[in-house]
Amino acid sequence: MHKDSLVVFSGRPDRITDAPLNGPIHINSTHYGDGQLIYGRYGNETWQQLELAISDLEGGKTLVFSSGMAAISAFLNTLSPGSRIVALKNGYAGTLLWLKNANESGRFNVEFVDTSDTATLLNSVLGADVLFLESPTNPLIEVVDLPVVIPFAKNIGCAVVVDNTFATPLNQNPIKMGADVVVHSLTKYISGHSDIVLGSITTNDDSLYSKLDLERKLGGGIAGPMESWLALRGLRTLSVRLEKSQDNAIKIANRLNNSPFINKVMYPGLESDPFHSRASSFMTGFGAVMSFEINGTAEQAEQICLSSNLVAYATSLGGVESLWERRRRIKSEMTNIPENLIRLSVGIENVEDLWDDISSSICKVLG
Ligand SMILES: *Cc1c(COP(=O)(O)O)cnc(C)c1O
Repeated sequence: MHKDSLVVFSGRPDRITDAPLNGPIHINSTHYGDGQLIYGRYGNETWQQLELAISDLEGGKTLVFSSGMAAISAFLNTLSPGSRIVALKNGYAGTLLWLKNANESGRFNVEFVDTSDTATLLNSVLGADVLFLESPTNPLIEVVDLPVVIPFAKNIGCAVVVDNTFATPLNQNPIKMGADVVVHSLTKYISGHSDIVLGSITTNDDSLYSKLDLERKLGGGIAGPMESWLALRGLRTLSVRLEKSQDNAIKIANRLNNSPFINKVMYPGLESDPFHSRASSFMTGFGAVMSFEINGTAEQAEQICLSSNLVAYATSLGGVESLWERRRRIKSEMTNIPENLIRLSVGIENVEDLWDDISSSICKVLG
């Protein structure tokens, strides 16, 4: 089945008479007997439905967690002390801060590299135990050359983890390219309605799966059944939401790119973007998050975000609602992100309404 069928089909109850089309929300802390589930921190049938659906899309076995960061930290907690990790220099601020702290405390030996530069990356992977990637990256929307980097790392015995949140399983499947682990912030595109926080991790390595399962049981970062059900409900429309968002995004990126008030637009869908040909060679879509630097100051970027009527000034991304923010207002954001950079997550609204709102907000402040 194609992936746009799987998002609709996977993770449903068996088709027997009087079975419901959608599984119930299992609100329970315990289960009868000595079976698979036992206790509410060990297993839950609503998690399992969502896990099956993500597994079908990414290839491998999935565990859902209370957040994307819970999934990421559960994985990192399975690594031996002293592990050598090569990680992206530009990426999700929460992941980077976690790794930076683990490096400073001496728990892991982490090297942060520019993962968009393939030669540098291949060189640093030599001798590493784990390569931690994100592609496209947050918030600079850089694309890693996954079809080159993943097999190279695997060949020298380095495990590869890819945070696939920005691409979604519809635009690329890193496990099918040879990666060991895929993580998602389900908070973003997969749930898609800016209403829950949830995460997942998928792997095709059975021994790692068991370690992660134990990490979830003992770490306790378990998903709520209600959130799991909502994520599965959101997943059903992922393909149409993503398609509309991407259609809107390319139009808006092109218009921003031609605006005298904008210095630089970062979006791999643009032909002028340095990652356009790389992304086109293996991704089936460019996603719908872009960043741009305005021809103005941090204060003006802030004013632009506050001036909009339709686009909401809020953090996060991947929902049906368009959101934007000046990234550096977040204190934990990396200091190499320009102060006047705005990250825009394009939603599924009418593109002309979006452009009217975006262009008039920009003109009001810079015009
Ligand atoms: C949001 C995000 C995370 C963290 O996920 P939470 O669900 O907020 O914990 C991790 N990686 C990327 C790329 C993200 O955008």
